[in-house]
Amino acid sequence: MAAKTTTAAAEAVKQLTYLAAALKAPRITEAASRLADHARDAGWTHEEYLAAVLEREVAARSASGAQLRIRAAGLPARKSLEEFDWDAQPAVRQQVPALASGAFLAEARNVVLLGPPGTGKTHLATGLGIAAAHHGHRVLFATATEWVTRLAEAHRAGRLPHELTRLRRYGLIIVDEVGYLPFEQDAANLFFQLVSSRYEHASLILTSNLPFSGWGAVFGDQAVAAAMIDRVVHHADVLTLKGASYRLRNRGIDTLPSIKTQETAH
Ligand code: ADP
Ligand code: MG
Repeated sequence: MAAKTTTAAAEAVKQLTYLAAALKAPRITEAASRLADHARDAGWTHEEYLAAVLEREVAARSASGAQLRIRAAGLPARKSLEEFDWDAQPAVRQQVPALASGAFLAEARNVVLLGPPGTGKTHLATGLGIAAAHHGHRVLFATATEWVTRLAEAHRAGRLPHELTRLRRYGLIIVDEVGYLPFEQDAANLFFQLVSSRYEHASLILTSNLPFSGWGAVFGDQAVAAAMIDRVVHHADVLTLKGASYRLRNRGIDTLPSIKTQETAH
């Protein structure tokens, strides 16, 4: 009887190996045998056992999917939210965890990060990008200037609408450094089209060292800037970072008069 059971079990394992390979889920074989004894000892139901095995497969898939999405996102560095020092930015401490949960992506809301250089805008945008990838969203990061170059190329090739449609398949597009360089009028219009095409469809994260009032000069046209800001902030969380550059902290440079003024201003 024992021999018969062993043979049946071996047959089942063989079949399981074949079925898991057919499903392109080879980890199921490993999880199934690893969890079987534990399930028997703990008196799991068949349903509990099946759920535990499938859960291992799903977790492994989403982890490797997230790594692929993070690699494909073109992030400048892998700066995670866990590495962020909240004591340096206490004002946004409350806002970020809700954003990290990814709820804003499901609602196609935007995030705008404003603040002086070195206050962590790119770091937070990157960290939110990584979190989005973990939540299963495709992410694409570039600076505003790079986005404009990309859109201008598509426009010249007559495939701007196609490119905008393609970009909508990304749950999150990050536009870093809006305002770092002013745009030509054509560029401002291309950028406006990017913002419009995503409006209420998919999320954007924008970072800028300028307040919204300074965007008109960047886009060379107050009307274009106003229309764009309107769409961006209609459904958006605006996080304002403050203080001295994190890059310069502990270097004695934070005692410079200009930076001191900035700090005491807040
Ligand atoms: P910004 O984009 O606002 O100019 P960055 O995000 O590039 O600033 O930050 C500059 C550097 O300082 C980066 O290396 C970043 O990781 C680091 N940094 C900034 N703020 C923080 C913070 N609060 N905690 C940890 N690192 C930070
Ligand atoms: Mg930056």
